Amino acid sequence: MDTKTHDEPHSDSKANSRSNWLRAAVLGSNDGIVSIAGLVVGVAGATNSKLIILAAGVAGILAGALSMAAGEYVSVSTQRDIEKTLLHKEREELRSQPKEELEELVSLYEAKGLKPSTARIVANELTAKDAFAAHVDIELNIDPNNLTNAWHAAYASSISFFIGSIIPLGVVMLPLGSVTIPVTFVSVIVALVITGYLSAKLAGTNLPKSILRVVIGGAAAMLITYTIGTLFGVSHL
Ligand SMILES: [Zn+2]
Repeated sequence: MDTKTHDEPHSDSKANSRSNWLRAAVLGSNDGIVSIAGLVVGVAGATNSKLIILAAGVAGILAGALSMAAGEYVSVSTQRDIEKTLLHKEREELRSQPKEELEELVSLYEAKGLKPSTARIVANELTAKDAFAAHVDIELNIDPNNLTNAWHAAYASSISFFIGSIIPLGVVMLPLGSVTIPVTFVSVIVALVITGYLSAKLAGTNLPKSILRVVIGGAAAMLITYTIGTLFGVSHL
């Protein structure tokens, strides 16, 4: 028996929707760390006022979390609409041309490796039981009972954006005097190594490469905003 066929995304939709949720969470926290680190380090380059840094950080967190939620909601809703349209179309086809649909099912099982006679038996039995479920499973790879929830994805990404953003804002607010910026910089890099590690693990991609990519992105964001911030700050001295 070939267990490989069970690795297809639709075979385990619970694990699939969980990994979607995790992906949104890791991306959200990564965004929260990078964008708020860039923001607060930039403002800290211009002013020593903790109150101004705090106000900028809180405004940035609110704007970022809302924008993450809206973006994720739109993208998941679009995906969901596409899936619903496909399901509707399949239902219509089963109603209007059941014979053609049965033949289609037979050929799909043949393509999977069943003998023509076996494929016909399987197709007939599945059609008798639940034709719609059989077609949706093999043709569309969608579990109609488990369409991705747009609100869940939106919550996951905005909450994780918030959690990620706490790191740079929290550290930059500490009374560290002249080492505030270096300590913030290092904390952000450490946090990005962790999210880079998690996202590489989730996506099954090359570890050092993925970690390096997020770390360089975050470091560049902080260096650029800090440099610009100090340029603004000079005029106030
Ligand atoms: Zn069909």
